[in-house]
Amino acid sequence: MRRLVSVGVVALLMMLPAAGTRAAQGTAPFAILSSSRTVHRLVALSFDDGPSPYTPAILQILHRYRVPATFFVVGEHVLQYPSFVKAEAEAGDVGNHTYTHMDLEWLANIGVSQQLQATQRVIWNAARVRPVWFRPPYGAVDGRVAVDAQKLGLHTVLWSVDPRDWSEPGASVIVARVLASVRPGSVVILHDGGGYRGETVQALPTIISTLLRRGYRFISLDTMFTPHLQRPPDTLTVTSPRVR
Ligand SMILES: [Zn+2]
Repeated sequence: MRRLVSVGVVALLMMLPAAGTRAAQGTAPFAILSSSRTVHRLVALSFDDGPSPYTPAILQILHRYRVPATFFVVGEHVLQYPSFVKAEAEAGDVGNHTYTHMDLEWLANIGVSQQLQATQRVIWNAARVRPVWFRPPYGAVDGRVAVDAQKLGLHTVLWSVDPRDWSEPGASVIVARVLASVRPGSVVILHDGGGYRGETVQALPTIISTLLRRGYRFISLDTMFTPHLQRPPDTLTVTSPRVR
């Protein structure tokens, strides 16, 4: 069992504006985000572990409902399906999920940088975009990894709603879990790669249409978090990630 990250003890050090102020001697500023405290019915979708043969179906559904999503891709999968990554960039956003789906807490800093940089490179080659969002595999992140990511211009984002679709609980269970958990400012994690994802594809239209009916608006991670990155740390919520 991989150890849980105790996000409660992760310091949220925000970039201080100008004036050359440093958060702490020798400590680069970073944030680990997982949800926003907005009072508005805003929600962000994210898909991990792709691209895969299931990605086009996911993109088609997003297109049908005109909602954005962020795809946290695995570098070696990008090499297999570069055209899917281009389509993801056009439909929403592409994020960095490491090159080989590594638990980065076990790697030295040089290894962390290599995983992240190699992934940035293959995404650029496939879609000519430079990701600004990073999601650590297994939610395994500590301050050191977040700082390494930050040095490469990557903001670390986890999630706040996890229906554990990868465990194949059935499409209706995936729908029910998401609908029971979404709150204003939620970030939902789903998976478009890493195994059989037919249930996720089946669940997605009901998740989107029901939330739309409930008055939710789907927004990108940029829209969800960029304003908060300018504000003091207490406007951010960090919850414990699940382990997969
Ligand atoms: Zn993953």
